[in-house]
Amino acid sequence: MSGYEGARAGAADLPSLDRLLGMPEFQAALADFGRTQVTAALRRDLDVRRAAALAGTLTHDALTPSAFGARVLSALTERNRATLRPVFNLTGTVLHTNLGRAMLPEAAIESVLQALTSPANLEFDLATGGRGDRDDLVAPLLCELTGGEAATVVNNNAAAVLLMLATLARRREVVVSRGELVEIGGAFRIPDIMTHAGAKLVEVGTTNRTHAADYRNAIGDRTALLMKVHCSNYEVTGFTKSVDVAEVVAIAKPHGVPVAVDLGSGTLAPMERWGLPHETTVQETIAAGADLVTFSGDKLLGGPQAGMIVGRKDLVARIKKHPLKRALRVGKLTLAALEPVLRLYRDPEHLSERLTTLRLLTRTRADMAAQAERLVPVLANALGEDYTVSAAPMVSQIGSGALPVEQLPSYGLAITPAGGGKRGAGRALARLEAALRGLPYPVIGRIAEQTLWLDLRCLEAHDEARLSLQFAELRA
Ligand SMILES: *Cc1c(COP(=O)(O)O)cnc(C)c1O
Repeated sequence: MSGYEGARAGAADLPSLDRLLGMPEFQAALADFGRTQVTAALRRDLDVRRAAALAGTLTHDALTPSAFGARVLSALTERNRATLRPVFNLTGTVLHTNLGRAMLPEAAIESVLQALTSPANLEFDLATGGRGDRDDLVAPLLCELTGGEAATVVNNNAAAVLLMLATLARRREVVVSRGELVEIGGAFRIPDIMTHAGAKLVEVGTTNRTHAADYRNAIGDRTALLMKVHCSNYEVTGFTKSVDVAEVVAIAKPHGVPVAVDLGSGTLAPMERWGLPHETTVQETIAAGADLVTFSGDKLLGGPQAGMIVGRKDLVARIKKHPLKRALRVGKLTLAALEPVLRLYRDPEHLSERLTTLRLLTRTRADMAAQAERLVPVLANALGEDYTVSAAPMVSQIGSGALPVEQLPSYGLAITPAGGGKRGAGRALARLEAALRGLPYPVIGRIAEQTLWLDLRCLEAHDEARLSLQFAELRA
């Protein structure tokens, strides 16, 4: 029955685990993954072969030492591949929440590397040798850039809002316009955060119109805060009225009630300077009289995930003393990344070159079009006859709730199936989208209007060659 490699094999033909482990074919896997993992993988593989023998589908060529060696090595490589992996964000959304939002600038790399591998003065005052406060590493910079008196940093903006409300408004009332009761993707809803902070939400106005009198009439003995929330991911248009921060401040002040603003993205630089639509800056909000402003670190700011609270010294001091602050605090890696990013804002002349987010947002259409022209033949060659690839204008978005309705003229690759009718075309596009996602360095695009769009806004020059390689890989 033996001698012929493709011939049927039985369970009795399976080699023993010990015999296999001693073979030279396994030495590479043993060196890379260790005996525990290799033994377990080999057991799993032998189980599969045994089942095949019982089903009558096992062949002798599956039982050679090199066949076992190759299967085990590939299984272990797959099993040990990082789950968090870099991808190409060709969705056209620059601050894509599901793809990790802002990419950190080069300036942060060295600082983060050092914090990873070396002790640091995270909570150690180098001047006195006494205990330090981790907020002090970035608070002076945040105050300098925003005009706030004091600052503290927590895990993200949702945490910043929660902590602020829990400290200042527990068992008391917070007045918010009905037009600003936002839900941000991933289950952040202002009413829910209020509940969890123990605060009572007092809604005023209507969805489309809120007037100064609505705020004025809502203030009472139990009012802790008047709060404004940035309408990050939508816009109310048409017959609308809202009350701006300065006006809300004017209403609150005589009552001694503080005004808090959840700015969402919040930016520290005037975006119109680079031809982008204006997004309210933190400075403007502080200058308008807001007592506290909260904003994200990884949206337009272009830094790591973090939530900033900037504003009045006495209020920030109370917030820092709340027990939740300890639970929501940031780690040293975040602070190591945040400090160099903030420092870039001291030099606005170089910002659009050095802050990755801004560099991507300000790329010219001509630059992206030239990239598209170079990539079309590479992708067309990889896809063959089944698809048509062309360079095409498209529009990208900033994302993460910054300027939700503004779109940026962009350029990229448009791919359509060569034929097969509407249903067939839909399936062909889905297949291609999945194949791009399945690449070693996954390529994420977007399907719309029977076309797969690969927006090149987030493809910087140094990544172009790597994308070409992935396209070539697609062919295999
Ligand atoms: C994005 C956003 C949040 C949540 O910020 P995270 O940093 O994602 O926690 C809260 N409020 C507004 C208005 C936002 O735009």
